[in-house]
Amino acid sequence: MKYANIIVNISHENLDKTFQYIVPKTLEDTINVGDYVTMPFGRGNKLIGGYVLELTDKPVYDSLKLKEIVSVKTDSRLVEYKLIRLAYWMKERYGSTMINALKTVLPVKKIVKEKELKSIALKLDTKAAYERLEMYAKKHQKARERLLKELINEKVLDYRLVTAKLNITPATIRAMEEQDILTVVKKRVYRNTAGGISAGSRVTLNADQAAIADDIKDDYKKGIRKTYLIHGITGSGKTEVYMDIIDAVVKEGKQVIVLIPEIALTYQTALRFYKRFGDEVSTLHSKLSDGERYDQFERAKKGEISVMIGPRSALFTPFDDLGLIIIDEEHEGSYKSENMPRYHARETAEVLAGLHGASLILGSATPSLEAYYSAQKNEYKLFKLDKRANEASLPKVKVIDLKEELKGGNKSMFSGELKALMEDRLSRGEQTMLFLNRRGYAGFVSCRSCGHVVKCPHCDVSLSEHKGGKLICHYCGYERSAYKECPECNSKLIGGMRAGTQQVETAVRKMFPYASVLRMDADTTRQKDSYEKILSAFANKEADILIGTQMIVKGHDFPYVTLMGVLAADMSLNAGDYRAAERTFQLLTQAAGRAGRAGLPGEVVIQTYRPEHYAIRCAAAQDFEGFYNEEMAYRELAGYPPAGHMLAVVAESADEENARTYLNALAESLKSDIIKGCYGPDARLIGPADAAVGKINDIYRKLFYVKARDISVLTGIKDSAEEYLNANKCKGLRVTFDMDPVRGY
Ligand code: ADP
Ligand code: ZN
Ligand code: ZN
Repeated sequence: MKYANIIVNISHENLDKTFQYIVPKTLEDTINVGDYVTMPFGRGNKLIGGYVLELTDKPVYDSLKLKEIVSVKTDSRLVEYKLIRLAYWMKERYGSTMINALKTVLPVKKIVKEKELKSIALKLDTKAAYERLEMYAKKHQKARERLLKELINEKVLDYRLVTAKLNITPATIRAMEEQDILTVVKKRVYRNTAGGISAGSRVTLNADQAAIADDIKDDYKKGIRKTYLIHGITGSGKTEVYMDIIDAVVKEGKQVIVLIPEIALTYQTALRFYKRFGDEVSTLHSKLSDGERYDQFERAKKGEISVMIGPRSALFTPFDDLGLIIIDEEHEGSYKSENMPRYHARETAEVLAGLHGASLILGSATPSLEAYYSAQKNEYKLFKLDKRANEASLPKVKVIDLKEELKGGNKSMFSGELKALMEDRLSRGEQTMLFLNRRGYAGFVSCRSCGHVVKCPHCDVSLSEHKGGKLICHYCGYERSAYKECPECNSKLIGGMRAGTQQVETAVRKMFPYASVLRMDADTTRQKDSYEKILSAFANKEADILIGTQMIVKGHDFPYVTLMGVLAADMSLNAGDYRAAERTFQLLTQAAGRAGRAGLPGEVVIQTYRPEHYAIRCAAAQDFEGFYNEEMAYRELAGYPPAGHMLAVVAESADEENARTYLNALAESLKSDIIKGCYGPDARLIGPADAAVGKINDIYRKLFYVKARDISVLTGIKDSAEEYLNANKCKGLRVTFDMDPVRGY
């Protein structure tokens, strides 16, 4: 007997209220999750409709009391059908309950007051405005100068964008309003729109760009739907290519979703889309309230907008006839959700595109191994853009071996060369960025004399140093005592690497007391908007040097930066997970892309203890293919994604013993089935081990991994684990899954 769990009213608040019905024998073979069914309801047995959320062979209640479904209709054009199918796929692939999966794809409905949208309009004519601008410049009224400049270009600006992204205070705006320079216009409209910016602005694509755009548009017109990967260096004009294709798709009456990493969704990027498409565009970001997000989704459903731009959750915009999905900076880690279901936007977008009959375009200067691997297998169509669109030249990159500096007696964080170049930039009034690469830093141990890094003999990832000096592998749990001297060269200079942005700042201020320095890291960006404030201050040339972590290498355009110094390029290389080299290559390539973007030629200095490592060598040479080949060989050898697949099973509990015992028992049960061959020949369970961050807020974290070539083997193992969890409930313990994790635990 088959039973269907049915929801009558599909919305966030009603998800828990499902009703179970019997599937009549005649419908057993045709019924599917997502189908619209009719069934008798309530005492009067009135016929009503609902959607199938789940099919099961286990009745929740006494099956004799259940009623039967009357009819089934599969209508794949319905938005609800697509959403439920998508949620179902996410649940099956990543592991979660159906309710959690649905909650991820459905907007929360909240009744909220409609906000007043304000915009700012210029009141002066151009000549008067320029005179005013000159006066502000003379008086060093930077904020007013900045706003006026923008107003001269745009005439009308969205109030919220001005305060949030341009870092202009309401007091400044009021003052300028009193001087009759501008006027604040109030309009009652939906939130987060172009706010009066008119559409139509466009550039003429160059030959390389046009070739790609035409190719994809041709496919589209012929009804061919595919996934495309545009591998184009930073500044090669990918965004212009996207916009050209979006234009064509929107003209056919279809809708488009554009995913951009949150951190890259700057004022400038949003503005480019508004200028091209006007009020047809809306943006989402994670700081929107649930109500604001709901508004945007409602507008999409009503057909008032055709292009939605936002981070990964924008994927769930309820468009009813989606023609195209674009994922910019496709390699970014933020496309993987940290909550259950831990979905990846790239994979989910492929499924969504399939449901709609839409195309998918991925773009990146440093494609993920996954995407490039698919392109190599001809599953994706690959395009390249290897010249900068605005004739800017690529920066000169120099790699400095810190071991040599040490031999020469320089123990500071700065090589002689970097110091000299910084001095030169200060004297020329150009800007420098210093990037401290601490990404994924987990206390690895290395030798300052020979660059040797201590690795796990079983997993080929770096060991992490723990309190008391123990070295631990966070994949398999291998541990050993600390080294007193380097096993390679016997130097005593082996130990954990310690360096923070604060230390860098102190050192810079000491070297160049006359320079003005900004620092951007987790500490200085805790306050709301502080991130944008620091970036826009630096973009406005209010400081000579910007020091920061990976936050500074993404997204933003800095026209006056002509020097990028990468300190401790090795740090991310030694994070204890298999993606360390990929992340390092991406970060270094992105960092290099920050220098010299507009007219002024740029220079990049990469300081490292391991100049010979392929991630560093290839980033310096801007050689993606070279990197891909070496990295892919490593992944093949070790069976890491995308050569194979990997499932993390994570247990969290306040009671450490509880977490350990439970996870061990689960692992043993799976292991014995694996040994018996229940999951095919190549499944392998690794661990259990303590997580890299073994305890967060007094919650202990233990985990194990399962690897296999074929993903269906892992979803099978995940299903068994879920069954085990249901059969052996354990209080105070949470077990979660992460399919093909992109970050360490
Ligand atoms: P990407 O998205 O690849 O980083 P963008 O689309 O942002 O590149 O382009 C980089 C810069 O070059 C932008 O300022 C953009 O306006 C400009 N640009 C791109 N294509 C053209 C073109 N065909 N003609 C003139 N300027 C262009
Ligand atoms: Zn050594
Ligand atoms: Zn190991």
